[in-house]
Order: sequence, then C-alpha cells, then structure tokens
Amino acid sequence: MLQVKNILFSYKKTPVLKAVSFNVNQGEHYSIIGESGSGKSTLLKLLYGTYDLSEGQIFWKHEEILGPKHNLIIGPEYMKYVAQEFDLMPFITVAENIGAFLSNFYPEEKKERIKELLNVVELMPFANTKVKYLSGGQKQRVALARAIAKQPEIILLDEPFSHIDNFKKQSLRRSLFKYLKEKNITCIVATHDKEDVLPFSDQMIVLHDAEIIANGKPEDIYNNPKTPLIASFFGEFNTINDKIVYAHQLEIVEKSELKVTVVKCYFKGNYYLVEADLDGKSIFFEHFKSLKPGLKTSLNIKKNKLQ
Ligand code: ADP
Ligand code: MG
Repeated sequence: MLQVKNILFSYKKTPVLKAVSFNVNQGEHYSIIGESGSGKSTLLKLLYGTYDLSEGQIFWKHEEILGPKHNLIIGPEYMKYVAQEFDLMPFITVAENIGAFLSNFYPEEKKERIKELLNVVELMPFANTKVKYLSGGQKQRVALARAIAKQPEIILLDEPFSHIDNFKKQSLRRSLFKYLKEKNITCIVATHDKEDVLPFSDQMIVLHDAEIIANGKPEDIYNNPKTPLIASFFGEFNTINDKIVYAHQLEIVEKSELKVTVVKCYFKGNYYLVEADLDGKSIFFEHFKSLKPGLKTSLNIKKNKLQ
C-alpha cells in the first residue's frame, strides 16, 4: 500500500502542498485532479522521491520513499514515473526504446515482450521507426510502453494522454488501464480530463489551494460535487438555489417556476447545449434538438441524477 502522511512541500516560501494525506491499495487506480498549477505534477514527483519533503512521510509497503538528500538515484526500482515531458532516445527505434531496460539474457522472450507492449500502446506498425520521426502523441505512447516494460509495482502517470489525438485516445486508455489492472499494478494518474477518471479510477482526490478538498470514489464525487470547482471538472453546471445542478439534469417541462428564455444553442453531437436566460443570469441545459433564440420555456430538475 502507498501511504502519504501529512506532507508539506514548497519550492519557495508558499507551500505548493500542505497537509496532504491519502492511501492507495495495491492494484488500485487513483486519480489526482485539480486546475493547472494546483500541484498535481509536484505531488507525483514527491511520490517518486524527486524532492525532499518539508514535513510528512511517504511509504510504499514498509519502505519509506526518500528524497535526494538520502538517495543517490532518484526513483525506487519498483516504481515508474512518466513525466509530462517524456524523455526518449530519439536516434533508436521504437522497439529499441521500449526494450532499452529489458534484459538481453533471453532474446526470444524479450522480442515477445516488446511485441506485447507495442500492442498495448498500439504502435506495432512503428516498431522499427526511429523515435525522432514520431509525432508527440506517438512519443507519449512509447514513453508509456517503456514505463510498463519491466512491470513496476506502481506507476505514476502525469497527463498520460495529453498529446494523443481523439482518434486514438479512447482505445488507448482502455487498453492501458486494462493492462495495468490485469497485472495488478497500482496506478496514480494526474489529469485534468474526466475521461481518464470516471471510467477507470477506483478513487480520486481533488487538489485546490495546496490542499485536498475532496477524496472519494469518482461516482460519489460526481454525484455530490461539494463545490463549483469540482463540478466544473465534470461538465457544464448551474447553481440553482445554492444547489449544483449539471446541465444534463435539467429538462424542459410545460410549467415550472424556472422560466427561461433561450439565448443560444451549441451542437454537441448527441445533444445540444442550450444557453438560456434566467432572471438576467445564464443557465445551461441539454436538449435533444436545437431551440430558437428568444423561445420562452420552463425547466425542471430531473429526479434521478444519473438520468
Ligand atoms: P500542476 O501539475 O497541477 O499544473 P505543478 O505541480 O506543476 O502543478 O505546479 C504547482 C505550483 O508549483 C505552480 O505554482 C508552479 O508554478 C510551481 N512550480 C512547479 N515546479 C516548480 C519548480 N521547479 N520551481 C518553482 N516552482 C515550481
Ligand atoms: Mg502538471
């Protein structure tokens, strides 16, 4: 189990993280979310032992993870970290990069293993391409494959799909997270994309103002967002009578107290996001067809939140 106990850390005077505590079980998938600059990358770097803590401790099983003051080599053997800026060897091929840290003792097994990894990150056609000729997204996939090559016990991923286009993202996410679950590899992901979290994470934490403001199951945090900041991570929402209501929780009805005038419609694929005016304030709801600006209608908050 990973144990983060009351850590405090600052680069300069102001703490970037304070009183941060959480536990992650073996094989569990954990997400760290928060706005840009909220300390997600810093937290992953601390878990990896990149910096010395001002206060607190981090343990993996019974071993304390210590910073550079106590360690010559940063990063424990059993842990892999894929940074936001992945560094690869540009002048050798994709397969060679992925195999760089695998033993040459059993060449046939090494070949098989590289094939398996190329499949996980869907890079088979590029096995023999030099990394310098790859796009940003392809490089990111090589970095992911390299990190899981030696089967770490725990993997830290910093915005792991940020450079990967939408055509590939969905299937790559499924393939990588499924692989990690199958191998019982503990996974901690820093992200600002709800698609990395909702379908795949067992637990999530939300960082804000250097602290954890929410910690729980994605489903619970989604269904009961404690603050507008948390709701905004998941999608369009409104604050109605001090309650957070997602845009998809509102529906048009014949009569209600919530009388609105349509301002604008945005096509979103399987629905339209409608911006409307409610007593001089904007309100957003989802509707199956486009509505004309100026249309007066009434809204109702749906009972079942997940509908
Ligand atoms: P996130 O990953 O959530 O965007 P970071 O952990 O990168 O956030 O950064 C948290 C805060 O720490 C930011 O205010 C950032 O400017 C600052 N910071 C990050 N790295 C350094 C550094 N090496 N030296 C000084 N300040 C840093
Ligand atoms: Mg970051």
